[in-house]
Amino acid sequence: MNPESSSSSPAPSHALDASTWAHAHHDLLETLRDLIRIRSVNPPGDEILAAGYVAQFLADAGIPAEIVEPFPGRGSVAARLRGDGTGGEPLLLLSHLDVVPAPPDLWTHDPFAADVADGYVWGRGALDMKAMVAMELAVMRQLANEARAAGRDPASDPIPGLTRDVMFASTAGEEAGGVEGAGWIAEHRPEWLRAAGALNEAGGVSIEVAGRRFYPIQVAEKGFVRYRITVQGTWGHGSMPREDNAAVRAAEVVRLIAPFEEPHVTPVVRRLLDAVAAEMPEESARLVRAVGGDNVRVSQAALEKLCEPPLQRAVRALLRDTMSPNMIHAGLKFNQIPGIAEIEVDVRNLPGTPEPEMRERIRRRLGEELWQHVTLELLHYGEPVEAPIDTELWHLLVATIRAHDPDGIPIPVMAPFTTDAKHTARVGTPTYGFSPLRLRPEDRFLDLFHGVDERVSVEGLRFGLPVLYDVVRTYCGTRAG
Ligand SMILES: [Zn+2]
Repeated sequence: MNPESSSSSPAPSHALDASTWAHAHHDLLETLRDLIRIRSVNPPGDEILAAGYVAQFLADAGIPAEIVEPFPGRGSVAARLRGDGTGGEPLLLLSHLDVVPAPPDLWTHDPFAADVADGYVWGRGALDMKAMVAMELAVMRQLANEARAAGRDPASDPIPGLTRDVMFASTAGEEAGGVEGAGWIAEHRPEWLRAAGALNEAGGVSIEVAGRRFYPIQVAEKGFVRYRITVQGTWGHGSMPREDNAAVRAAEVVRLIAPFEEPHVTPVVRRLLDAVAAEMPEESARLVRAVGGDNVRVSQAALEKLCEPPLQRAVRALLRDTMSPNMIHAGLKFNQIPGIAEIEVDVRNLPGTPEPEMRERIRRRLGEELWQHVTLELLHYGEPVEAPIDTELWHLLVATIRAHDPDGIPIPVMAPFTTDAKHTARVGTPTYGFSPLRLRPEDRFLDLFHGVDERVSVEGLRFGLPVLYDVVRTYCGTRAG
């Protein structure tokens, strides 16, 4: 099929009447509020509580679900709706159940009360990412309802009109690398994640730059490297200072590691910048091109003119490999010179930069004299990942956004952080960050991820649910060949 032409045929969501969507929207808000009230805070996680809720939701919709709990309390849940098998491999609706902690002191609303106020659902996980869990569940239930209306059993019969299976998986542990969730599943239940494509978090949310509304869709993410640098010195009495104080050497290591790397524009980021520039008036387009240029100072100045600080930091991280020294430990007692210090460095490498190269750069920055006094250990590594652009699914995501928001501009993007896409890549599933929400500029969602007063707009969700439904119905409604 030529997916760009699918916008000329009416969207599948138009086949359902307004009252169906009004009910679905109301139920979506209630599901999201239930999920926010379940404190699946990582650490420790306790995702089994949320997994149980999700399994019950699916069971009530007539869809059998399976829960795994490979570590106590760390539950993940999966389900599958069947197509007639003529369309090819399944589509996976992926999400995670855990949220980051939310110390309540600074919040306007209790982060676990799920208040609805001022047009928002408030609470930890509203954006990251229980809204998408709730939207995916709503689509699963809607498809099951359609099966029942046609006299079929969604637990065993093909859903009318579906040619591919639709899989659902919601995992534990994503906020700490996914080891207990998608990582374990990739190893022990790979069939939960193996699909023609997956839709996940970190994309499809509108963002305004210079008066234009863009929908970045995640197609790539940076790698993740955790290094521990152990610095040797000599123990001694604090009354008689030494040059080889390990804390002093550690401070020097941190000072040398902290400065930003030179920019390196990867093909995905080049395409992102070109796509943004093409939509901008000439003055702004010139700034966007300067962001991707070779001159670091000109690039940064252009970025500052184009967007607010949170987006500036995100884009800056996409233009280079980054190294952030985030933990420093030294010393036992105030009057004792420490003979050892430890630094942990959070390194994010671009696709195309191998991990050993980052190790070499640290060595070059420290210089041979200082390098003699340190050892560098690799504690954790996740490869950068990239999903192909120009696939059938990619074009469908683009066309569906355009059909629902004619002024919206979908663009490919790389995430500076990691998601469960690291684990789906291990089983060969191309994963797109696409949790569709149309937000207003004042919604400032980049500030709210993991932040205070996390909330999602009620109207943003009203936009998102039919978009997701149309993607699923269309991608899983055509025959292969
Ligand atoms: Zn997330």
